[in-house]
Amino acid sequence: MSPLSVLHASQLITLSGPKRPRVGTELSTLGIIHNGGMLIRDGKIERVGPSDEIEKNVGDAEVVDAGGRVVMPGFVDAHTHLVFAGNRLDDFERRARGETYEQIAKAGGGIWSTVVKTRAASELDLLAQAKKHANWFLRCGTTTVEAKSGYGLTVEDELKILRVMRQLKKEAPLEIVPTFLGGHAVARELSPDEYLDVVVTEMLPRVSAEKLAEFCDVFCERGYFNIDQSRKILSAAKKLGLSLRGHVDQLTNSGGAKLMAEMGATTADHLEQTDEQGIAALKKASVQPVLLPGSVYALGSSRYPRAREMIEAGLAVVLATDFNPGSSPTPSMPMVLSLACTQMKMLPAEAITASTVNAAYSVRRGDRIGSLEPGKLANLVIFDCEDYRELAYWFGIPQTHSVYVRGECVSRSGGL
Ligand SMILES: [Zn+2]
Repeated sequence: MSPLSVLHASQLITLSGPKRPRVGTELSTLGIIHNGGMLIRDGKIERVGPSDEIEKNVGDAEVVDAGGRVVMPGFVDAHTHLVFAGNRLDDFERRARGETYEQIAKAGGGIWSTVVKTRAASELDLLAQAKKHANWFLRCGTTTVEAKSGYGLTVEDELKILRVMRQLKKEAPLEIVPTFLGGHAVARELSPDEYLDVVVTEMLPRVSAEKLAEFCDVFCERGYFNIDQSRKILSAAKKLGLSLRGHVDQLTNSGGAKLMAEMGATTADHLEQTDEQGIAALKKASVQPVLLPGSVYALGSSRYPRAREMIEAGLAVVLATDFNPGSSPTPSMPMVLSLACTQMKMLPAEAITASTVNAAYSVRRGDRIGSLEPGKLANLVIFDCEDYRELAYWFGIPQTHSVYVRGECVSRSGGL
């Protein structure tokens, strides 16, 4: 691969800084270089600086002229449900008619309807649909996603989903961080205790033996897995060497944030209902909160997580899409930035830090991605705007100009 230089970015958003997730006022420090440029060799960033300085060192490198546009690291989406079959259009319409979650589930919708379709789908069918999703992410400027299983709920179907992720990783340029979410819901054919036993004694050992996941997640919520059941799943995963994430305090404040702190989890996700005690517990245990405003929006709710209090408490906040067919059908990080600024009162710069470098640390890849610094992978996006704040400001219109993964162009507006 020939070396590449990117020149004349109106703002080169480097996010250079300490080698750890950013907190407090660091969240609004983007390390901007005006009329910036960079040199890329072997898929990695070699040099970053003012354009004229980079130009002197271009040598035989191919030149990409950013033409006065914003250049920044590819988004890292730290919470997605990438692999599933079908959609939930009927649920969507029912919600528009005013039906409740319970009514929709009774009528055959909800998570279970996606489980039925995903079980029936072959590995190849799932892979084809996942490729389509992967392409959507790239087109929105996302170059890495964390992806969860959880629509299989049998040993074989959970493994099938994780294998699809492994195959997708080989076939698509999108980088994938796999998470086992057998504890997404209780399989209907089993009692809660029977299913819990299958997750702990059958699924987790297989996932670990086949090295199919880096993280284990659980849906800790009334009607799904309570605190004790969630603790059992997470403890078993931890013993097998998996790192931990959790869907907690989304619909009710059940003390999920405290559980994630107690377990030494990497992240606690959702947190719409988390109070001061929960925030303090996360801070004490250095757990990163992953906030998912897209799901609050898509469910028609108005109870967004308390991002400002979390930032003020010193938490290393992360933003993600929660891409899934039921409650957050969006792969768009720019849409999430818009919601973060308008609904959660985060600053545009804070939202960008939360969806790049902080997100990278939350998937244990902070040393490789999330900022444009020498030594890191050349995963970057050119956006068709001059000021980074435009990303969160204009909404409903794609601003992606082109996307690079390891120095290679993988998506361009108007096609490759
Ligand atoms: Zn989720």
